[in-house]
Amino acid sequence: KPCQWAKVALQGIELEDPHPHMFLKEPIFPAKDSILDCIGNTPLVRLRRIEQAENLSFEVYAKCEFMNAGGSVKDRIGIRMVEDAEKKGLIKPGYTLIEPTSGNTGIGIALAAAVKGYNCIITMPEKMSEEKVNILKALGAEIVRTPTEAAYNSPESHIQVAQRLNKEIPNSFILDQYSNPSNPLAHYDSTAEEIIQQVDRVDILVAGAGTGGTISGIGRKLREIYKKNVQIVGVDPVGSILAQPDSLNTEICSYKIEGIGYDFIPRVLDRSIIDTWVKTNDYESFQAARRLIREEGLLVGGSSGSCLAGLLKIAKDIPPNKKVVLILPDSSRNYMSKFISDDWMEQNGFLERPSPLEHETWAY
Ligand code: PMP
Repeated sequence: KPCQWAKVALQGIELEDPHPHMFLKEPIFPAKDSILDCIGNTPLVRLRRIEQAENLSFEVYAKCEFMNAGGSVKDRIGIRMVEDAEKKGLIKPGYTLIEPTSGNTGIGIALAAAVKGYNCIITMPEKMSEEKVNILKALGAEIVRTPTEAAYNSPESHIQVAQRLNKEIPNSFILDQYSNPSNPLAHYDSTAEEIIQQVDRVDILVAGAGTGGTISGIGRKLREIYKKNVQIVGVDPVGSILAQPDSLNTEICSYKIEGIGYDFIPRVLDRSIIDTWVKTNDYESFQAARRLIREEGLLVGGSSGSCLAGLLKIAKDIPPNKKVVLILPDSSRNYMSKFISDDWMEQNGFLERPSPLEHETWAY
């Protein structure tokens, strides 16, 4: 159908008839009721350039969760947990939602809270980026920063501080992504269903785990559909203890990748669904995230890099013609002052910059 406004805008300009730009490539969806209706239904994109560069004999598809309204996969659980709690009569507009989070769940909840009229308090370790803090503030959330080193069960941890605030503040509620079944269910019902419709077969799923809601929910649905023909691969940063067997977790230490890995096993992480775990470190994750941006034009965050780095580590064991799906959880927006910045990469030893001489050679 010709696009009417384009005709008007281009009046007076000589065009071929019909001009190709007057035709829409994809169906256009009607106006949405609110931005909350722009969560989910994210694209699945083939990584052809990386397949070629790595000489892969299998197909790699990336689920672009950074294209959700709030910029991450966690928007899905933000709205799902709020609406499930509303249906159960546990919360209503005007209440205060408190959540301990590495940031993205906070953004998902704060987005829902802004549109639906809740107050929002987010407790978040210091390590998480200023970009996430500023987005949360802009959405009207109050932020409480907690020490990154605090163990999950120490009184200063983001989890325990949230519990304390919940006791102190009347009409407050913790949706609790770590144990709330609505977290994995959001992915079982939507993310996994979308993937199944977007590609004719999934042989391997590769995803990182934080709470584990994403991998457990998608993994469970894929297992039901494809039985033993699908392999679920979990990616866990060096420093975390989620991977199995435990011998893979050689050290518990801090790391710079945000959103994946923990020092305890969250209740919603169903490790029985996961066939294989791969450990990844900061360096390979940030390099891989930059490759996703530079080679595929995908404006992703660091944990997306962990996912690609994890896949590349097992690539030699993947038979030809398999179809692999990677989850890309969040967007570069969250890390503009971190791994997106060359200065930050250099200061943290993740980038070997060309010498000044090489720079000069380039300049000429
Ligand atoms: N990547 C990023 C950037 C995240 O914020 C999260 C959520 N913590 C994840 C991956 C992992 O998602 P999940 O909690 O569902 O395991």
